[in-house]
Amino acid sequence: MSSMQSQPQTFLSRWAWLLFPLLAFGAVAATFGLLKYVGPKLPFILLGAVIAIGLLWILVSSLSPAKADRTCPECGEQGLERLDPNTTRGVVCSSCGYVDPDISAWYLAEDETLLEEIVLSERAQKRATSNSAESQDTTRKTTSAE
Ligand SMILES: [Zn+2]
Repeated sequence: MSSMQSQPQTFLSRWAWLLFPLLAFGAVAATFGLLKYVGPKLPFILLGAVIAIGLLWILVSSLSPAKADRTCPECGEQGLERLDPNTTRGVVCSSCGYVDPDISAWYLAEDETLLEEIVLSERAQKRATSNSAESQDTTRKTTSAE
């Protein structure tokens, strides 16, 4: 009884490798058939179709821009929020309390606020910390020289 149940599965797994070659040969045969039916204009029609699909993709992408994915990896709810409104790092889930301080919250910040303000304040903060580190170095040098 069990050998009867597993027989169709083994048949499929044994002949599954034939699927891609058959599809590839079928596509080649269909192309030759289409070439015979349409004529020598077929490459230009296909090139035009590919360019038209590309332009259509650009149009659709620009008319419906990407939205931030707020799905929580822990509970699956749409509850992800930024951990700190002053940075683009870290998320917290409002539904279950899941916290990831290292993940990028760039798309969430892009949805909610102006990124320029965050980037400029982070840059100023980085500059201030490097300047204070340099001033500490100079004070160390002066103290060691004395
Ligand atoms: Zn959650």
